[in-house]
This record gives sequence, structure tokens and C-alpha cells, in this order.
Amino acid sequence: MGLLPKHLRDNIVNVTISLVKTLQSIMSTFGKNKGMLNLSVTIDQESGFCFGVVYAIEMAEEILEEQGYLYCLGDIVHNDEEVERLKLKGLRIINHDEFKELKNERVLIRAHGEPPATYQIALENNIILMDASCPVVLKLQNRVKNSFDDQEKIYIYGKHGHAEVIGLQGQTNGDAVVFQDLKELDGVDLPSSFTLYSQTTKSTDKFYAIKDELIGRGYKVKANDTICRQVSNRDNELKVFVKNYDKIVFVSGRKSSNGKILYDVCRQNNVNTYFVSSPEELSPTMFEAKDRVGICGATSTPMWLMEKVKSILTAY
Ligand code: SF4
Repeated sequence: MGLLPKHLRDNIVNVTISLVKTLQSIMSTFGKNKGMLNLSVTIDQESGFCFGVVYAIEMAEEILEEQGYLYCLGDIVHNDEEVERLKLKGLRIINHDEFKELKNERVLIRAHGEPPATYQIALENNIILMDASCPVVLKLQNRVKNSFDDQEKIYIYGKHGHAEVIGLQGQTNGDAVVFQDLKELDGVDLPSSFTLYSQTTKSTDKFYAIKDELIGRGYKVKANDTICRQVSNRDNELKVFVKNYDKIVFVSGRKSSNGKILYDVCRQNNVNTYFVSSPEELSPTMFEAKDRVGICGATSTPMWLMEKVKSILTAY
């Protein structure tokens, strides 16, 4: 250095200072955003796909492998990230209008099941149905049909327009009354005695509250708790799981019925619960250093998505 002219030495010193500053700035940004929150992150091993969804997706993937494409009537699962993954493999989601126009193809029926009219259209259009209706839903359809055949008045606690509910109503030629809130029955002339069913993914607590309220009003209610145990058991497991963490990240598609219910369960038992439908919605500002974070999700949330969320959180 001593041999160099003064202006060159000054230049080298300035460049070195500026390099050190840049490095400090990178280190500080890195420190803020990567690894410095030191979160301890755990995925709830009971969360993720239920067996009905696993069955439908495995069936779809098998056919996609051999055929390269496959039509599916409605979103195969209420999770956009998983739907996108399968679309990239060749899954073609169609609605009921498009289904009516289709001929000579194979079409997957998802876990929610379908009403009898869908099977009729398939027959007329030479469509082979790859039926992945969940056995729990099929059993419920059967019970509703038997009640209808026995001329019982049927009320279904379920979400208006939900595919499973449409499938159930179809067992009764559209006769069954669907309600998603007890208020909808206020002021309605109900028969003195009727049969009550529930969509498989509704809240157990709400179903029993509705049953008790209706009995309290003097109706004779033949109540059938037809909520899927994959949902109601998870309900109880989540109540315990979320209490062990400072923050909860609940991962679910926004269209998922049980996602909404299970998220409510989490939030009631841990107020620091965030609903996240894709990893892009995460931010380091949601957490404090050394937070213990629990990740859980709906019966339609893929494990790979929760793993992705975990790897993002552990990098904060
Ligand atoms: S939640 Fe239950 S009924 Fe619904 S698809 Fe899953 S296993 Fe079947």
C-alpha cells in the first residue's frame, strides 16, 4: 500500500469501507428475516387429508398417469394449491353444465358425491364415472334415501349449494329442506315430527345445539348425528393441540367447509390463530422471536403444503 500513490490508497480505503457497509447491511437484513426469529415449529400430525380425499386424489393420479388427462366434476378438493398441482398433471375441472355436454369420456366424481341425476346423464352420454364418492357420504346418502322412502319429513343441516348437500337433496327429489342456520327456520311452519340429518363436515356442537333447541320448541325430532368422525374427532384433537403453542397457523382453502369450522375451533382455543390459504400470506411480522408455532389444517389441506409453510417459518 505504501508504494501506491495517495489517491489510489484513498480509493481502496473508500471501496473497502463501502464494501463493509454493504456487508453489514446484508447481514442485518438477513438477521431480521432469516433464522433470527428462531421459531420452534410443529405440524399437527393429525391434520391433513382425510381418507375420503386421499382416496379421490390417489384415484385421480393413477388415471392421470395412464391417460395423461382426466375430467373431474367440480374441484377435486377445496384447496386451490392442491387443485393447481393436479391441473399441472392434466386434471380438467368441469362444472355441471360442461358435464352435460361431454360424451364418451371418463369423469371423476369427487369425495362429496353426486345426486342420482348425475349418474343418469353419464348413462345418456356414454360417460364412464370414476366414482370416488367417500364411503361415509355414500352411507349418508343411503340413509337419507331410506328416510325419504319411508315418507319422513327430512331437514338437513348443511351449507346451501355445497356439493355434498346437493347430492343428499337429490336422494329426496329435492324434497328435503336444507338450512345452514336455525334462524332460517324461524317463522317457518315445521311439521310436528321430522328427521334431522347433518352434512358430514358441520360442527358437532352446533348440530347438538340445533337439535336441543328444536326439541325445546316442542318438535319431535329424529336426530341423526351424521357428522364424519374425521371432522368431529379432529375438532377435539385441535382443541388440545392449539393450547400448546404461542401462535397457530391454520392452513386451508377458503372454500373448505370444515376448514372454516376447524379454524373457529382453533381460534376459540388460541386467539393467536392465523388463517392462511397459501404460503404467500405468511409474514415475519406475525411472530415474535422464539415463538412456539403450531401448524394445522383442514381435511382438505395437503401435508406438502403444511411442510412448505413450516420450512418458510423456520427460515424466519
Ligand atoms: S371428511 Fe369424512 S365424509 Fe368428508 S370426505 Fe373426508 S372422510 Fe369422507
